[in-house]
Amino acid sequence: MSVDVLAIAAHADDIELTCAGTLIAMKDRGHSFAIIDLTRGEMGTRGTAEVRLREAQRAAEILGADFRETLDFGDGGLAINRENELVLIEAIRRAKPRLILTPYPEDRHPDHRRAGQIVTDAAFYAGLRKIETGSPAHRPQQTIYFSTAYVHPPTFIVDVTATMDRRFEAIRAYRSQFYDPASSEPKTMLSQENFLKAIEARARYFGFSIGVEFAEGFVSRRPPRIDDPVAVFEGFEQGF
Ligand SMILES: [Zn+2]
Repeated sequence: MSVDVLAIAAHADDIELTCAGTLIAMKDRGHSFAIIDLTRGEMGTRGTAEVRLREAQRAAEILGADFRETLDFGDGGLAINRENELVLIEAIRRAKPRLILTPYPEDRHPDHRRAGQIVTDAAFYAGLRKIETGSPAHRPQQTIYFSTAYVHPPTFIVDVTATMDRRFEAIRAYRSQFYDPASSEPKTMLSQENFLKAIEARARYFGFSIGVEFAEGFVSRRPPRIDDPVAVFEGFEQGF
Protein backbone atom coordinates (compact mmCIF):
# COMPACT_ATOMS: atom_id res chain seq x y z
CA MET A 1 0.00 0.00 0.00
CA SER A 2 1.49 3.36 -0.98
CA VAL A 3 1.44 6.43 1.27
CA ASP A 4 2.53 10.06 1.00
CA VAL A 5 4.56 10.04 4.21
CA LEU A 6 6.47 7.24 5.90
CA ALA A 7 7.71 7.72 9.46
CA ILE A 8 10.45 5.26 10.43
CA ALA A 9 12.04 5.05 13.89
CA ALA A 10 13.81 2.59 16.16
CA HIS A 11 11.17 1.87 18.80
CA ALA A 12 7.40 1.91 19.00
CA ASP A 13 6.57 5.22 20.76
CA ASP A 14 9.52 7.14 19.22
CA ILE A 15 7.15 8.57 16.60
CA GLU A 16 4.44 9.48 19.12
CA LEU A 17 7.00 11.25 21.32
CA THR A 18 8.44 13.36 18.50
CA CYS A 19 6.54 13.98 15.26
CA ALA A 20 3.09 12.40 15.47
CA GLY A 21 1.33 15.78 15.67
CA THR A 22 2.72 16.56 12.22
CA LEU A 23 1.62 13.17 10.86
CA ILE A 24 -1.96 13.80 12.02
CA ALA A 25 -1.84 17.35 10.64
CA MET A 26 -0.74 16.01 7.25
CA LYS A 27 -3.51 13.42 7.33
CA ASP A 28 -5.99 16.22 8.10
CA ARG A 29 -4.72 17.90 4.91
CA GLY A 30 -5.43 14.75 2.90
CA HIS A 31 -1.98 13.10 2.90
CA SER A 32 -1.77 9.46 3.91
CA PHE A 33 0.95 8.15 6.21
CA ALA A 34 2.31 4.93 7.67
CA ILE A 35 4.79 4.01 10.40
CA ILE A 36 7.63 1.49 10.47
CA ASP A 37 9.24 0.56 13.80
CA LEU A 38 12.67 -0.95 13.16
CA THR A 39 12.74 -3.03 16.37
CA ARG A 40 10.29 -4.97 18.55
CA GLY A 41 11.32 -3.16 21.71
CA GLU A 42 12.32 -6.42 23.39
CA MET A 43 15.10 -4.77 25.45
CA GLY A 44 12.85 -2.15 27.03
CA THR A 45 13.03 -2.05 30.84
CA ARG A 46 9.22 -2.12 31.08
CA GLY A 47 6.70 -4.19 29.16
CA THR A 48 7.42 -7.03 26.69
CA ALA A 49 7.69 -7.11 22.91
CA GLU A 50 4.11 -8.51 22.74
CA VAL A 51 2.65 -5.83 25.01
CA ARG A 52 4.51 -3.10 23.14
CA LEU A 53 3.29 -4.41 19.78
CA ARG A 54 -0.33 -4.23 20.97
CA GLU A 55 0.20 -0.73 22.34
CA ALA A 56 1.83 0.38 19.08
CA GLN A 57 -1.06 -0.91 16.98
CA ARG A 58 -3.57 0.84 19.23
CA ALA A 59 -1.55 4.08 18.98
CA ALA A 60 -1.46 3.77 15.17
CA GLU A 61 -5.26 3.52 15.11
CA ILE A 62 -5.56 6.65 17.21
CA LEU A 63 -3.15 8.53 14.92
CA GLY A 64 -4.95 7.35 11.79
CA ALA A 65 -1.99 5.58 10.17
CA ASP A 66 -2.74 3.54 7.04
CA PHE A 67 -0.55 0.79 8.46
CA ARG A 68 2.17 0.17 11.02
CA GLU A 69 4.86 -2.42 10.40
CA THR A 70 7.34 -3.78 12.94
CA LEU A 71 10.75 -4.99 11.76
CA ASP A 72 13.33 -6.86 13.81
CA PHE A 73 16.68 -5.10 13.46
CA GLY A 74 17.55 -5.68 17.13
CA ASP A 75 16.53 -3.50 20.07
CA GLY A 76 19.46 -2.28 22.14
CA GLY A 77 21.85 -2.96 19.27
CA LEU A 78 20.05 -1.96 16.09
CA ALA A 79 22.23 -3.44 13.37
CA ILE A 80 23.24 -1.55 10.25
CA ASN A 81 24.12 -4.28 7.79
CA ARG A 82 23.29 -5.18 4.19
CA GLU A 83 20.60 -7.69 5.15
CA ASN A 84 18.67 -5.13 7.18
CA GLU A 85 19.29 -2.44 4.57
CA LEU A 86 17.68 -4.63 1.89
CA VAL A 87 14.64 -5.32 4.10
CA LEU A 88 14.22 -1.59 4.62
CA ILE A 89 14.77 -0.73 0.95
CA GLU A 90 11.97 -3.16 0.03
CA ALA A 91 9.67 -1.72 2.73
CA ILE A 92 10.28 1.81 1.39
CA ARG A 93 9.66 0.69 -2.19
CA ARG A 94 6.37 -0.96 -1.23
CA ALA A 95 5.17 2.16 0.59
CA LYS A 96 6.41 4.58 -2.15
CA PRO A 97 6.50 7.61 0.18
CA ARG A 98 7.13 11.14 -1.10
CA LEU A 99 8.51 12.11 2.30
CA ILE A 100 10.32 10.12 4.99
CA LEU A 101 10.49 11.20 8.64
CA THR A 102 13.20 9.62 10.79
CA PRO A 103 15.35 10.42 13.86
CA TYR A 104 18.23 12.83 13.41
CA PRO A 105 21.24 10.50 13.11
CA GLU A 106 22.97 11.89 16.20
CA ASP A 107 21.44 11.13 19.59
CA ARG A 108 21.95 9.90 23.15
CA HIS A 109 20.37 6.53 22.27
CA PRO A 110 22.56 4.64 19.77
CA ASP A 111 19.47 2.90 18.30
CA HIS A 112 18.03 6.32 17.34
CA ARG A 113 21.32 7.35 15.77
CA ARG A 114 21.57 4.09 13.85
CA ALA A 115 17.91 4.25 12.80
CA GLY A 116 18.47 7.71 11.29
CA GLN A 117 21.55 6.44 9.49
CA ILE A 118 20.09 3.24 8.02
CA VAL A 119 16.90 5.03 6.95
CA THR A 120 18.87 7.82 5.23
CA ASP A 121 20.97 5.27 3.38
CA ALA A 122 18.06 2.95 2.48
CA ALA A 123 15.99 5.88 1.17
CA PHE A 124 18.78 6.65 -1.28
CA TYR A 125 19.51 3.05 -2.25
CA ALA A 126 15.79 2.41 -2.81
CA GLY A 127 16.16 4.49 -5.98
CA LEU A 128 18.85 2.27 -7.51
CA ARG A 129 17.02 -0.12 -9.79
CA LYS A 130 19.86 -2.64 -9.97
CA ILE A 131 19.44 -3.33 -6.26
CA GLU A 132 16.74 -5.98 -6.58
CA THR A 133 14.39 -6.58 -3.66
CA GLY A 134 11.13 -7.61 -5.37
CA SER A 135 9.56 -4.16 -5.83
CA PRO A 136 10.40 -1.48 -8.39
CA ALA A 137 12.93 1.23 -7.50
CA HIS A 138 11.49 4.29 -5.74
CA ARG A 139 13.32 7.23 -4.22
CA PRO A 140 11.47 9.56 -1.82
CA GLN A 141 11.67 13.27 -2.55
CA GLN A 142 13.12 14.16 0.83
CA THR A 143 14.14 12.66 4.16
CA ILE A 144 13.47 14.97 7.10
CA TYR A 145 14.68 14.48 10.66
CA PHE A 146 13.10 14.95 14.06
CA SER A 147 14.99 15.28 17.33
CA THR A 148 14.67 12.56 19.95
CA ALA A 149 16.75 13.12 23.13
CA TYR A 150 19.21 15.67 21.73
CA VAL A 151 17.43 18.72 20.37
CA HIS A 152 18.77 19.97 17.04
CA PRO A 153 18.00 23.47 15.74
CA PRO A 154 15.12 22.98 13.31
CA THR A 155 15.20 23.93 9.64
CA PHE A 156 11.42 24.36 9.77
CA ILE A 157 8.60 24.11 12.31
CA VAL A 158 5.10 22.70 11.86
CA ASP A 159 2.07 24.03 13.78
CA VAL A 160 0.44 21.04 15.54
CA THR A 161 -1.88 22.94 17.86
CA ALA A 162 -4.95 21.27 16.36
CA THR A 163 -3.54 17.75 16.69
CA MET A 164 -1.76 17.69 20.08
CA ASP A 165 -4.77 16.13 21.85
CA ARG A 166 -4.75 13.19 19.45
CA ARG A 167 -0.97 12.89 19.72
CA PHE A 168 -1.19 12.64 23.52
CA GLU A 169 -4.04 10.17 23.31
CA ALA A 170 -1.74 7.97 21.19
CA ILE A 171 1.10 8.42 23.70
CA ARG A 172 -1.23 7.26 26.48
CA ALA A 173 -1.78 4.00 24.53
CA TYR A 174 1.73 3.00 25.68
CA ARG A 175 0.60 2.21 29.18
CA SER A 176 3.58 -0.02 29.90
CA GLN A 177 6.08 2.76 29.16
CA PHE A 178 4.87 5.96 30.79
CA TYR A 179 3.95 7.24 34.22
CA ASP A 180 1.51 4.95 35.99
CA PRO A 181 1.42 5.23 39.78
CA ALA A 182 -0.08 1.71 40.01
CA SER A 183 2.77 0.05 38.08
CA SER A 184 5.23 -2.15 39.98
CA GLU A 185 7.71 -2.19 37.07
CA PRO A 186 11.14 -0.50 37.45
CA LYS A 187 11.25 3.26 37.02
CA THR A 188 12.83 4.58 33.82
CA MET A 189 13.52 7.98 32.31
CA LEU A 190 10.28 7.67 30.33
CA SER A 191 8.12 6.53 33.24
CA GLN A 192 8.79 9.49 35.53
CA GLU A 193 5.89 11.87 35.90
CA ASN A 194 7.85 14.80 34.50
CA PHE A 195 8.77 13.08 31.25
CA LEU A 196 5.50 13.70 29.41
CA LYS A 197 5.47 17.25 30.74
CA ALA A 198 8.90 17.71 29.13
CA ILE A 199 7.55 16.34 25.84
CA GLU A 200 4.68 18.81 26.01
CA ALA A 201 7.08 21.61 26.96
CA ARG A 202 9.17 21.00 23.87
CA ALA A 203 6.07 21.33 21.69
CA ARG A 204 5.14 24.52 23.56
CA TYR A 205 8.65 25.91 23.10
CA PHE A 206 8.58 25.36 19.34
CA GLY A 207 5.00 26.61 19.26
CA PHE A 208 5.86 29.86 21.03
CA SER A 209 8.68 30.46 18.58
CA ILE A 210 6.20 30.56 15.67
CA GLY A 211 3.31 32.27 17.48
CA VAL A 212 1.10 29.21 18.10
CA GLU A 213 0.45 26.94 21.10
CA PHE A 214 2.15 23.71 19.98
CA ALA A 215 4.58 22.85 17.19
CA GLU A 216 7.14 20.26 16.11
CA GLY A 217 10.56 21.05 14.67
CA PHE A 218 12.35 19.27 11.83
CA VAL A 219 15.79 19.28 10.29
CA SER A 220 16.14 19.01 6.53
CA ARG A 221 19.32 18.92 4.44
CA ARG A 222 17.52 21.23 2.00
CA PRO A 223 15.46 24.09 3.40
CA PRO A 224 11.86 24.09 2.20
CA ARG A 225 10.81 26.63 -0.44
CA ILE A 226 8.72 29.51 0.88
CA ASP A 227 6.52 31.45 -1.51
CA ASP A 228 5.64 34.41 0.69
CA PRO A 229 8.18 35.44 3.37
CA VAL A 230 5.79 38.15 4.60
CA ALA A 231 2.97 35.73 5.28
CA VAL A 232 5.03 33.03 7.00
CA PHE A 233 6.07 35.31 9.92
CA GLU A 234 2.53 36.53 10.57
CA GLY A 235 1.56 36.13 14.22
CA PHE A 236 5.14 35.72 15.50
CA GLU A 237 6.55 37.80 18.38
CA GLN A 238 7.95 41.00 16.94
CA GLY A 239 11.50 42.23 16.64
CA PHE A 240 13.43 38.99 16.31
ZN1 LIG B 1 13.47 5.11 21.19
